[in-house]
Amino acid sequence: MHTDDWLQTEYTELKDAGLFRHLRTVMSAPSGTINLDGREVILLGSNNYLGLSTHPQVIAAAVAATEEFGTGSSGSRLISGNNELYTTLETNLAKTKGTEAALVFSSGYAANTSIIPVLVGENDLILSDELNHASIIDGCRLSRATKKIYRHCDVEHLQNLLIESSDFRRRLIITDGVFSMDGDIAPLSDIYKVATNQNAMLLVDDAHGFGVLGKDGSGTVAHFGIQGEDIIQMGTLSKAIGGLGGYVAGSRTLIDLLINRARGFIFTTGLPPGTLAAADAALKVMRSTPKLRQRLLKNAETLKTALIDIGYTLLPSQTQILPVLLGEPQRATEVAEALLLKGVYAPAIRPPAVPTGSSRLRVTVMATHTDVEIHKAINGFADVQRSL
Ligand SMILES: *Cc1c(COP(=O)(O)O)cnc(C)c1O
Repeated sequence: MHTDDWLQTEYTELKDAGLFRHLRTVMSAPSGTINLDGREVILLGSNNYLGLSTHPQVIAAAVAATEEFGTGSSGSRLISGNNELYTTLETNLAKTKGTEAALVFSSGYAANTSIIPVLVGENDLILSDELNHASIIDGCRLSRATKKIYRHCDVEHLQNLLIESSDFRRRLIITDGVFSMDGDIAPLSDIYKVATNQNAMLLVDDAHGFGVLGKDGSGTVAHFGIQGEDIIQMGTLSKAIGGLGGYVAGSRTLIDLLINRARGFIFTTGLPPGTLAAADAALKVMRSTPKLRQRLLKNAETLKTALIDIGYTLLPSQTQILPVLLGEPQRATEVAEALLLKGVYAPAIRPPAVPTGSSRLRVTVMATHTDVEIHKAINGFADVQRSL
């Protein structure tokens, strides 16, 4: 079979199902208003929640480190040497998270696909929330452990699955802290209790809680006030921190084991020095500027209330991620396109990123959105609602 034949078939199938995706060109920084495909639009599709990717102190740190150390790290950390900026960043991450140690990966995706296969293998069991992020799903596949899916945030279901599976060597519960497409918060206190009672490990993916929830923005575990030194916390430097990279925070022993075993840590090049310095500077700003978090959540509340008033159906989010439920993929695309014409960019999210029948706009706000931008966005949504 020629390559072209099946490529064309798959392409047509995607288009017919309303699931085709394409890239849009951005010609500006991820601020409240951006230039997208040549048009000025309000950006409601960024994970740069605190606006730190354009913060002057963060940019200055990236520039200074790049001038001192160059643009690349030249090799894997174990072989080519570990830049001192890694040590500083990991020490500060561990301090923020309240753990003994932390380890930085190239991305959150690399972190999940690397950690999970170290924690569990063929004779083990993973219990995974049905709405967990794709990088967790891929990490589970790579681990070759048996996987059982529990209903979204359903702790009773989780507990029952644990009770009936006590034969496995090791058991690992995995949950998003804040769910990436729904914006709701996992019931971590209850999950941690069940994990402790059942002697199972707990891995929390805090990609969207870090920088937003808990004391100093340290995340979802802190938000619940859990003293859980045995919780393994991963997260990303690519969202509220505004840069790039993933991390794991936990015990010194865990981190040392990951350095020795995690394939996505060992067999890849370290992050650029500028990226490490930027993340460390952003971490400092995040911890010392609570008004960024307050402003972020205030913007979310204003927009959420207005969208519900206008007549949109929102899933019950408690955070900066506002899912506007639309159902079929074609409908989500149609509404997103209509909003673009009104100067508002809110990305349509369709399967496989969300379950079939729950296509939506994933609306996210930033701390840097001005009142004027939020109100322009609300007006755009109101115009589109009237024309539907
Ligand atoms: C974005 C995301 C990741 C991946 O992080 P990157 O740094 O973007 O690779 C992992 N988990 C969740 C829940 C995410 O939303």
